[in-house]
Amino acid sequence: DVGRQTIDRQVDSVCPYCGVGCQLTYHVKDNRIQFVEGRDGPANHGRLCVKGRYGFDYVNHRQRLLTPLIRKADAPKRPEMDMDYDNPLRDFREASWEEALQYAADGLKKVLDSRGPAGLAGFGSAKGSNEEAYLFQKLIRTGLHTNNVDHCTRLCHASSVAALLQMVGSGAVTNPVADVDKCEVIVLIGSNPTSNHPVAASFFKNAARAGKTLIVMDPRKTDIARHAHHFLQFHPDTDVAMLNAIMHAVIELDLVDKAFIEQRTEGYEALKQHLQEYTPERMAPICGIPAETLYEVARIYASSKGSMIFWGMGVSQHVHGTDNVRCLIDLALISGQVGREGCGLHPLRGQNNVQGASDVGLMPMVYPDYQRVDNQDARHRFEALWNTTLDPDPGLTVVEIMHAILDGEIAGMYIMGENPAMSDPNLNHARQALASLEHLVVQDIFMTETAHYADVILPASAFPEKTGTFTNTDRNVQMGRQAIDPPGQARQDLEIILAMAERLNLNWDYNGPQDVFNEMRRAMPSIAGITWERLKKESSVTYPCRKEGDPGQPVIFQERFLRADGKAALVPAHYSHADELPDDAYPCILITGRQLEHWHTGAMTRRASVLNNLEPQPVAMLHPEHLQQIGVQSGQAIILRSRRGEITTRVRSDSGVTPGQVFLPFCYYEAAANLLTNEALDPDGKIPEFKFCAVQVEPA
Ligand code: SF4
Repeated sequence: DVGRQTIDRQVDSVCPYCGVGCQLTYHVKDNRIQFVEGRDGPANHGRLCVKGRYGFDYVNHRQRLLTPLIRKADAPKRPEMDMDYDNPLRDFREASWEEALQYAADGLKKVLDSRGPAGLAGFGSAKGSNEEAYLFQKLIRTGLHTNNVDHCTRLCHASSVAALLQMVGSGAVTNPVADVDKCEVIVLIGSNPTSNHPVAASFFKNAARAGKTLIVMDPRKTDIARHAHHFLQFHPDTDVAMLNAIMHAVIELDLVDKAFIEQRTEGYEALKQHLQEYTPERMAPICGIPAETLYEVARIYASSKGSMIFWGMGVSQHVHGTDNVRCLIDLALISGQVGREGCGLHPLRGQNNVQGASDVGLMPMVYPDYQRVDNQDARHRFEALWNTTLDPDPGLTVVEIMHAILDGEIAGMYIMGENPAMSDPNLNHARQALASLEHLVVQDIFMTETAHYADVILPASAFPEKTGTFTNTDRNVQMGRQAIDPPGQARQDLEIILAMAERLNLNWDYNGPQDVFNEMRRAMPSIAGITWERLKKESSVTYPCRKEGDPGQPVIFQERFLRADGKAALVPAHYSHADELPDDAYPCILITGRQLEHWHTGAMTRRASVLNNLEPQPVAMLHPEHLQQIGVQSGQAIILRSRRGEITTRVRSDSGVTPGQVFLPFCYYEAAANLLTNEALDPDGKIPEFKFCAVQVEPA
């Protein structure tokens, strides 16, 4: 109450962390956030997790970038990470905005002149607003003339989007999380929502307590499994074997929805034929789940009045991630569990705006609204809208761009709000690539590991310092409002992109995010009906919303799928293995992921005092028997080594992993998990295999 009496103002906004998109209120005094409360948004109904409630004081951290910076002439870039975390600005000198912007643009233009558009690339951010992401991809496409533009969707749900676009014609969820109130069965696979989507997890737990059947499938037993009626701890890397066996059982038990298959899908006979060999009896020893359990789960899922499937990156981050998702879509389609309330498919999106950044075309193969760059009609539409000529070929994805740098094909990059020097797989390779760029422009709020390799750094705005729209996992377009001013000379990201565009000879005329949003409405039929005024008034509108006054559609595919003939495609998936299997030299399996208190590469949460006090240092989770076997106790240190790198970290006993598995969060720069991970890619989604590689474990 004392806090309430002393605040200057309250600002309604959205949480900057995960894709659940909880609405919150900032309580502000003297340009500082004093505390945060949840408000009644469609995704949270007042609830917040520890990150949303306490993870805000990173904005005041002493390491905020306050002035533009240019690399000192005598500070060469070294591939190995030699950043001095106590003095991270060591290699840089302060510059004026005018000097920094001109230097940033001139360096990119120089590469453009010497190598052409193929010599350039850009990474945008799923943490920025829709308007920032839209303008960033437009700048790369129209100012640098390349489709080499991507963002961290490539590292989380690119395989989900690839499968969904192929089979049902839309890369987003079919139903919101809130539909768990209307379903009978919830299947949660490859997801640790208690840590990664905590408020959504609270609704799953409530639903389980209210009598819904919760089925959890995961190689690692996490907190949510305590609430499950059935927990399937399948062997890592065997998703396709297990899911194909469940589908086989659905067919064998005659639980398919024949009318739905007949009227709304194509390819059933080929799928049925393909599934014949995947009997539960044959797949049981492969996936580690008894055949009778596979039959039972098939019966529960397919015979209920409404079953929903939620999945996370345990499904998507594999070289067979797209096949994993194809199985989930096939299962839902043959069971008729799509196209109405209380059923459907829901990839739980990671970052707060990864859905929106993907929707607005921050990807190398599509323009806004997933209109393909190699579709001539789409290209002509965007050439007319943007008054330019566009590259007709899809660009390179995140990891492909790193390879292209080392192959000497790409020499200049503009990176806004991403941290590939921590988030990419095989970091020694990624850092070598970043260090070898002729010109790297980084726009960020902190001196990140990626900014360490920059030639010029543009100090940007944190989430509460700007206004814009953000799209959550439920397809809710929500208004984030500015609560405080950026510190020092830091500027709003939109303002920086516009200043860069001007110096790249783009004749743009936007007077703030509202103007950008209005152009997005013209570019994107899916949000054409959403007005800025309505967003200001209602804070959240669900797309598709094609005409003004349209209430929006929380549930899609009620009558037709978004493919040309309106039918969904059933696509068989073959069981295949991870790229790097354990062997005598590297006998253990590494699984990377997140912790409740930290977010992605830790740039924000490790500078948020409450969160960092709760989880202050790197830690790996190993089964107690495994620890006993190597003679290490909880709290002691181990060395983890893969064919690509080595780290030292403390350990924690965790009976949720099986002996021989290691779970490692990727947010700690002191023990960067991605020094170990494998950059092998899923052929369709181009997503790296973060969820499986071979490692050695030994006491430190
Ligand atoms: Fe923020 Fe996600 Fe937590 Fe909600 S669940 S408060 S959106 S981190």
